[in-house]
Amino acid sequence: MLAAVAASLLATCAQDASAGAGDAEPKVLLVFIDGFLPGAITVAETPALDRLLEHAAWSLRARAESTTISGSGWSSFVNGVHWDKHGVPNNEFKTPHFDLYPHVLQRFKEARPEGVTASAQSWKPIQDGLALPAKPDHVSFHDYYADADDYWDEPSADAKCANDMVRFLGEPALDAAVIMFGELDGVGHSDGNKNYHAGSELYRKMLAKVDGHLGRLLDAIEARASYPREDWLVIVSADHAGAQGEGHGKNTPAHREIPFLVSGPSAHPGEIWPPPKTPDVAVTALAHLGVGLDPRWKLDGRAVGLAPSVRPTVRLGGNLIFNGDAEYERAQIGTPDRLDVSIAGWEDPGWMTVHAHASPSRDSGRNFFAGGYGRKDAVIRQTIDVTALAGAIDGGATYELSAYVGGVKGGADSASVAVRFQGANGDEVGTAQLERETAFELGRPAGLLRRSVSGAVPAGTRSVVVEVTAHAENGKNDGAADELSLVLRQE
Ligand SMILES: [Zn+2]
Repeated sequence: MLAAVAASLLATCAQDASAGAGDAEPKVLLVFIDGFLPGAITVAETPALDRLLEHAAWSLRARAESTTISGSGWSSFVNGVHWDKHGVPNNEFKTPHFDLYPHVLQRFKEARPEGVTASAQSWKPIQDGLALPAKPDHVSFHDYYADADDYWDEPSADAKCANDMVRFLGEPALDAAVIMFGELDGVGHSDGNKNYHAGSELYRKMLAKVDGHLGRLLDAIEARASYPREDWLVIVSADHAGAQGEGHGKNTPAHREIPFLVSGPSAHPGEIWPPPKTPDVAVTALAHLGVGLDPRWKLDGRAVGLAPSVRPTVRLGGNLIFNGDAEYERAQIGTPDRLDVSIAGWEDPGWMTVHAHASPSRDSGRNFFAGGYGRKDAVIRQTIDVTALAGAIDGGATYELSAYVGGVKGGADSASVAVRFQGANGDEVGTAQLERETAFELGRPAGLLRRSVSGAVPAGTRSVVVEVTAHAENGKNDGAADELSLVLRQE
């Protein structure tokens, strides 16, 4: 599928501004593939996913819930909020808040009571807690565990769900449908998680099988008599990824980064930036269906892939750091153990998270970065391409790096910011650093100190890597940073 991704990238450049299908009737199909690894897309035989990628907005680094477990991710997929709101951190469904955050199909039916919906899935807690309360017009349920002895026999739970969904998609009146495929995760877990990687032949074989089910769904959509007058948006994503020998459930990039495709005439082809997150699925679906989003629903997702998404342009005199103020997405609510927000626009390999200031102010905004629950150093990193400023840089330019850094409680925990200037080949041509800061200053909401450093930008610099580290002495990591800024000026 690598070629298709490349073709999709090219299509971004050739895309005209008239994406979308005009007056056609909006429809959605949401496809959830349990344990879908981004690396598998390029190596498995997946003609149906290829078909979708021909006109898709996509990411192979979308952000799953930090819990990286199905109950948590599946809930966020269909209700559009992170798990600190929906209350499902695992597969136990002990304290779900599905009354406050219902299924996307329920939101749709409340807005459009005459709309027709369908659901097919194989997991009982989701069926009872989310799908059935959404009162889908067409319901399919085939218990995953009843067919889990042999994933390869026909018909398996996935195949039965697909068969039912093919039938539902054949109904003249149908607006929104959700289907789950669970068996890829099962194959990954087999043999002590030996097959939880894209190199596994069994894993690839099962992804091809799931792709076959998906292909039948796409055929059923295209076979609809009213298809020429319809604008189908198909979204495919996952609950988590995983790793060989580990399975999933860790808060690591290998478990957390998942594929995310938004395909159809209304999708804007190309890579989605910043990488989207699981709660974006439901919100994108509602936006496409024309359901006005009510702020009182407190959804965490945003519509993605329906409009061009590009990295911010770099310019002299402006802050080059994206989301340096931690305000792009909301902070976590409360402090439940293990909760970690993956941070938009940043490479976020560990436990750095976003907290809310106790008393927000105009200069601090609402949020700040903090070390979180990893109980050791937490790091985020952002690489900024400054090739567009090459002329100014090589003619002599200066930088000013500034941030608020410190420890949230003014204790021993601290934060630092490092910048690495890189040449065209990624080789280091210079560095800059805001030293570790633990001091406490009254008057700043989080007790952080503003620090800055300036100097000459090394000639030949073509990219800049900004790295924020929160250091913990012991226990919870209270190292914190906020309002990061890197400005380049011509001398
Ligand atoms: Zn699993």
